[in-house]
Amino acid sequence: MPHTTFASLGVDSDLVADLASRGFTEPFPIQAATLPDTLAGRDVLGRGRTGSGKTLAFSLPLVQRLADEDCARPGHPIGLVLAPTRELALQIAETIAPLAREVDMTVTTIFGGVNQKPQVKALSQGVDVVVACPGRLLDLMGQGVVSLDEVAVTVLDEADHMADLGFLPGVRRILRATPRTGQRMLFSATLDNGVDAIVDEFLNDPLLHSVDPAVAPVQSMDHRVLLVPDKAAKDEVVMRLASGTGRRILFTRTKHLARRLARKLTQAGIPAAELQGNMSQNARERAMGAFTSGALHVLVATDIAARGIDVSGVELVVHVDPPAEHKAYLHRSGRTARAGARGVVVTLVLPEQRHDVEVLLKKARIRAGIEKVRPGDDVVTELVGQVAPVVAAADMPEGVAVKGGGTAGRSKEGRAGRSRSSGAARRRGAEAQGRGQGANAGRPRGAGGSGRAGAGGGAGRTRSGQGRGRGPGPGSRQR
Ligand code: ADP
Ligand code: MG
Repeated sequence: MPHTTFASLGVDSDLVADLASRGFTEPFPIQAATLPDTLAGRDVLGRGRTGSGKTLAFSLPLVQRLADEDCARPGHPIGLVLAPTRELALQIAETIAPLAREVDMTVTTIFGGVNQKPQVKALSQGVDVVVACPGRLLDLMGQGVVSLDEVAVTVLDEADHMADLGFLPGVRRILRATPRTGQRMLFSATLDNGVDAIVDEFLNDPLLHSVDPAVAPVQSMDHRVLLVPDKAAKDEVVMRLASGTGRRILFTRTKHLARRLARKLTQAGIPAAELQGNMSQNARERAMGAFTSGALHVLVATDIAARGIDVSGVELVVHVDPPAEHKAYLHRSGRTARAGARGVVVTLVLPEQRHDVEVLLKKARIRAGIEKVRPGDDVVTELVGQVAPVVAAADMPEGVAVKGGGTAGRSKEGRAGRSRSSGAARRRGAEAQGRGQGANAGRPRGAGGSGRAGAGGGAGRTRSGQGRGRGPGPGSRQR
């Protein structure tokens, strides 16, 4: 069989060149499986494990097929991607932006928690691809700022989640506002019958491409289940697991617990950021920025970070509280061992949780024996790896969780964490940053954003609506 390349799968040469320039030379299996059909315009359901490259699998056909369409008219995007969280929407837009730029197309994100003005402005300028969370998109549709009547390609990432009860009514309204004839693609690591409602109503003669069985553990992921005798022992094990040098994500059951744990770790000299839905968007982006930049390497999150988030080099995922169900286990765990890298997943279990966790692991098809541990055991020491030096309060990086308020950011006096002022003043500073539209500090690197991330001129394409200057590049954001 001839060697499979992006070109042999039907990807245009300008996009192939861009991929190659960024080191993407070999298509991953989910890409090889779906591209011939998606590039041909077919409706597709794509299932591939966490970290297997689904974003590129849908971004390539989205961009390539839309490049043949006329540019979007103001307020009428031609491509749409729906995602469950803002962090994921931003990351998807970052993947699409360089490809879109190759073919002189633009992309923007639309989600809540931030001022809508930049989004409205981008739409009014005629943005081609919108990556959106349903709530704000519906809101803007209601205001008459955006119409989906010219959307030719729609993607649902994390499709099974988007078909969950909480999202389904909104997702339906959005899909109903797109033309019947458009192409639809649904992707997820856990694509199951939960998407039937959407498939039946909105997909036309769809093809299922399943690179893996419905539930398939990632090969390079090592699962450990630690039974701790009581809450005190658990707290100690958590503290130890957080103390290593590599990147790690700790998942908690509630927003409150995420906040408490992140602060506790930070106070103990382990810089930790929290990520949970009660934070301002500013604080969320600062936390993600600090984690992805490497300024700190411990992220304590709720399931808000369970789906889709791609941060390379996460070596350990800790289920501090067991997840609610087996799909959540797979998605949370999937933040490590991405794109073939190795990773370890630790689930902490209190005696009374043992039965539920066993059931959950069985459903997730994870075979891992339960290990009884105490905080000082060698098993824990091995999982911790090299211990990171303790960081003094005055040296905490921007983005750490701070007592009493949001997330440390820059304030007028300098770094909140460095400030020598009283704790109360520091708290006020952090709060102000958390709510306000503060400085640019701590933004995640890269693109997407509410800006026109993909504008480009003179790429040799003849698209109508000429005269677009090169927009702000992937480094810039509007708010
Ligand atoms: P998924 O959505 O399936 O969980 P992602 O799309 O987030 O996975 O991709 C996981 C990682 O794999 C990303 O960092 C991405 O850049 C990388 N990746 C995707 N496709 C390729 C490829 N063909 N070659 C090398 N790396 C790739
Ligand atoms: Mg994904």
